This record gives sequence, structure tokens and C-alpha cells, in this order.
Amino acid sequence: MKLVSRKGCGIMLLAILLAGAAFVAFNWDIIQRIFLGGVKVYETEAPALPDDLASPAILVFSKTNGFRHEEAIPVANALFADFAAADGWGFHQTENGATFTPQNLARFDAVVFNNVSGDVFTPEQREALRSYVENGGGFVGIHGSGGDNSYDWRWYVEELIGAQFIGHPMDPQFQQATLRVEDASHPATVFLPGDWSRTDEWYSFEASPRARGYNLLLTIDEASYSPVGLFGDDLKMGDDHPLAWWHCQGQGRAFYSALGHTAESYAEGEHIAMLLGATRWAMRLEGDGCGNEAAASAQRTQAGETAE
Ligand SMILES: [Zn+2]
Repeated sequence: MKLVSRKGCGIMLLAILLAGAAFVAFNWDIIQRIFLGGVKVYETEAPALPDDLASPAILVFSKTNGFRHEEAIPVANALFADFAAADGWGFHQTENGATFTPQNLARFDAVVFNNVSGDVFTPEQREALRSYVENGGGFVGIHGSGGDNSYDWRWYVEELIGAQFIGHPMDPQFQQATLRVEDASHPATVFLPGDWSRTDEWYSFEASPRARGYNLLLTIDEASYSPVGLFGDDLKMGDDHPLAWWHCQGQGRAFYSALGHTAESYAEGEHIAMLLGATRWAMRLEGDGCGNEAAASAQRTQAGETAE
């Protein structure tokens, strides 16, 4: 029995092809950002910073050449602005990669990467961030800042973050799970319950940075959720599934947390306390680690001056 004529078949095939092409064209930006290594947008004109920036100060950066966390980025920016206002810190927020010069960075005690994604810097800007951190500047990375499948800048993923993202659950994407506090003495974790139950998009990494000597603050209990990825891939890491950690990058204090996909995350009291503690630690206002404080600060100032 002939259900569809040859001509009918051809028209159907053409319609499917056209629909496919339209889908790809419509979603081209997001396909590029997630599956094709990100878009390549770079700024080269270093902007002037405000003259009246208070000290200490934080620089909050939220540029996205990879996936953009549209809901989280503005609320997290506002949260860090609140931290600064409450404690009298200088605050500057930008998506301009050219802000990253030695002179500009010397004015900040820590930089916060608010869901920065993809490779966002020119070689000079990369070098400015690397030198800033290794000479004693603080770094706080949030969620998407460690969430790309392909980083071109190896120092960033292998050293500064310390772990390669491999995926997050999609079945479903957001799940309630239990986090374990691995070290309750750190300013980031001191207010957290030992078993911390919350809902988020849970990242998995190629390997735990514990093996490299990085200090784990939070791990996730894999029995408390379903770690299955987009294509049904197994995202289990076992008992040592890290979600937040710190280490010394040269003289600099570096903190990364994989928490914080949703806008609601930045209204959760415990998560807010963790981010505030982490930022205060990275700024050397609290806690220990990563060399002599005065020497680190002097080195950083010097690095800024010699570059002028
Ligand atoms: Zn996310």
C-alpha cells in the first residue's frame, strides 16, 4: 500500500531539513557557547576605574564567552555590592576583560568571578590576572566560572580552578541533595550545618583537586541525588565528589564553589554566609593561608607600580 507519494516524501524531507536548519540558526549563539568552545569576544581598551574607590576593594567580573547564567548573574552582582556596602569596601563590577591590567588590579584585594564562562581574556589580560593572584591577590570563583567543557587557557582550569568540569545532571537538572562540610574551620564554612541539604544544579569534575593538595570545603553525597548527565552519562565521582575548595596560588588565596546556578541561591542565608566568608578570606580580612600578609600586599602594590 502506498501511503505517501514520492513527491510527498520529498516535500516532507525538505520540511524536516528546513526545520532543522531553522532550529540551528535560531539557537546558533547557545550552540556555539555550549558545544563549540564559546564565542570569541575580547575587549582591548582598558577602561578607567573610578578615582574614589574605597579600600579594601573587590572587582566583580561576570563576562560570558560560554554559557550565560542570565538569572544568577545580576542577583549575584547585587549580593556582592551589598557585601561591599555593608562593610565599606570599594566595589567595581564589569564585563570588560580589558579592565584586567596590572595597574587596575593592584587597586583590588580580591576579584570575584561571577559565573564567568568560556575564555574571556587576551594573552595580556590572562597574564595580568595570573600575576595578580600569584603575587597575593585574592580570587573567588562561582559556579559557571568552573563550568566549561573546553577551556583554552590551561592555567585557569588546571591551576586557578584546579578541576575540569565534565557535566551536571539533566534528569532532572535541579535536585535536592546533601552536602558534607569537610572543614568547618574555614571562614566560608564556619556557619554551615555539617550536613547541608539544598537544591541546585550539581557539577561533576574529571578528578577531585584534593589529590593535588587543594583543601576541600564541601563534598556532595552522591546517594542523595541522581548524577546522570545530558546524554545519560554517568557523572559519579565517588566519595570524594568536591563542590567547594581553596588553595594558595603562589601568594594568592583562591576559592572556588560550584554552587549557585539559580537566582534563588543568592537569597539563601547559608549560601550568602558562605560567599561572604569566602570573599573576606580571599581579601585577607579573615582566616589564614598563603604566605605573609604584609609581604603579599607589598608585592602586589609593587607589581602594579612597575607595570605603570
Ligand atoms: Zn549552571
